[in-house]
Amino acid sequence: MHAFHALCHQALADIRAQGRYRSFTPLGRNAERFPVYEWEQDGRKRDVTVWSANDYLGMGIAEVTMEAACAAARSHGVGAGGTRNIAGTSPLHDALEAELADLHGKEAALLFTSGYVSNDAALTTILGSLPGWEVFSDAKNHASMIAGMRHSPAKRHIFRHNDLDHLEDLLRAAPAAAPKLIAFESVYSMDADIAPIGAIAALARKYGAMTYLDEVHAVGLYGPQGGGVAERDGVAGEIDIIEGTLAKGFGTHGGYITGRAEVIDFIRSTAAGFIFTTSLPPVIAAAALASIRYVRAHPERRAKLFERAETLKRRFDEAGIPRLPSVSHIVPVEIGDAARCKAVSRRLLDEFGIYVTPINYPTVPRGTERLRFTPGPFHTDAMMDDLIAALRAVLAIGTSQAA
Ligand SMILES: *Cc1c(COP(=O)(O)O)cnc(C)c1O
Repeated sequence: MHAFHALCHQALADIRAQGRYRSFTPLGRNAERFPVYEWEQDGRKRDVTVWSANDYLGMGIAEVTMEAACAAARSHGVGAGGTRNIAGTSPLHDALEAELADLHGKEAALLFTSGYVSNDAALTTILGSLPGWEVFSDAKNHASMIAGMRHSPAKRHIFRHNDLDHLEDLLRAAPAAAPKLIAFESVYSMDADIAPIGAIAALARKYGAMTYLDEVHAVGLYGPQGGGVAERDGVAGEIDIIEGTLAKGFGTHGGYITGRAEVIDFIRSTAAGFIFTTSLPPVIAAAALASIRYVRAHPERRAKLFERAETLKRRFDEAGIPRLPSVSHIVPVEIGDAARCKAVSRRLLDEFGIYVTPINYPTVPRGTERLRFTPGPFHTDAMMDDLIAALRAVLAIGTSQAA
C-alpha cells in the first residue's frame, strides 16, 4: 500500500472516531414546495422540511429567476464555452458586472465562478502585489479568505473576533510605511453576529489601511436594496473592496468583487483564479441578473425573512430551546458535542422529517458544535410548530432525559 493510501485509511478512521465524519443527505428540492424537499430512503419518498438552506430568500426557486434561466438556456445554450478571454464573455456577464457595481455603489465589479474563488483569487492577487503587505484578519474569517491570505507572502495578523481594540493594537504595532489591508466579514454566519463596519473603516483610515469586506451572508438581505450591511449602515463608500456571492441571498451561483475601476481591472488582468477558468454559464448570469434586479426592487421579501427570523427566535425562547444570541437572520442552537450534534440532526430527520445541518469542527471550535437554522420567507407558522415540538422531544426539554 502506498503511504498516502495508508494515510487516507487512518485519517478517515480518526475522523469517524471523533464523530465528525461528514455524510451528505441527498435532498431533492421541489421548486413548488420549497422549503419542503424530497428525501428518498430505501425506495420510499418522504417530505423533509429544510431549515438550513443558504438560499435565504428562495430566489433559486422564484419564477423570475427560473424563467430567466430557462430563456437563456434556450437562446444561448448551457455552458459558457470558454474563459472570459476565450469566447466566454457574453453581454450577460457585462450586464451582471455593471449591476453588481451599481448595487454596491462602486465603479466596477468582477465575476468569479464562486464566492470561495473570488476571496481566494482577489486576496492572493492583492497581497502578492506590493512588497511588505501586512494583512489584518478577523479570527472568524471564512476559509476562502484564509486561503487567499495564505497563498500570498503577506504577513498575517489575526485580531480577536470583532475586537476593535485588538485590531487597533495590531495596526499600531505594524510598520507605519507598510501597505496594510483589513479583511473581515459583515454577517458571520456561524455566530449570527455582525461586524462594526463603520468603526473598522475609521481605524483603516487612521492607520492608512485598505479594507476588504466579505458580504456573502448579507447581500440581498440587508440594506434598502439588498446591498448588504455596509449599505444598511451607510458605509459602503468607506470600504475599498466588497466581495459577495450570487449563491446565497440571490439564489443562483458565482462570486464577485466590487471596487475602484483600476483595482478591479488589475485583478481582472492578473488573478489566475479569474483568468484560467471557464466563465460562469450564461444561464447562471441571466438568472443572477434577474434575481438581483428583483431583490433590489422588492424589499418586502427581505422584510418577510426578518419577520420569520424574529418569530423563530421568540418562539425558541418561549419553548426553552437554548439558542445562541443573534443580531442577524441566522438562528444558531448550541449543542456542544460533535457526536450529539450529529445524533440530534439525524433524529430530527429520521423521526420528524426535519433537516437542519449539524455544524461541527473545523467549521466551529470543538465544544461549540451547533445546529444552524436559516428561516426564510417560506417557513410557515405550522412548520415552526412542528420544528419546536420535534426539538423539544429530541433535546428532551421539559423532561429529565437528554438525547
Ligand atoms: C459561503 C461563503 C463563501 C463562499 O461563497 P460560495 O459562493 O458558496 O463559494 C465566502 N465567504 C463566506 C463568509 C461564506 O460563508
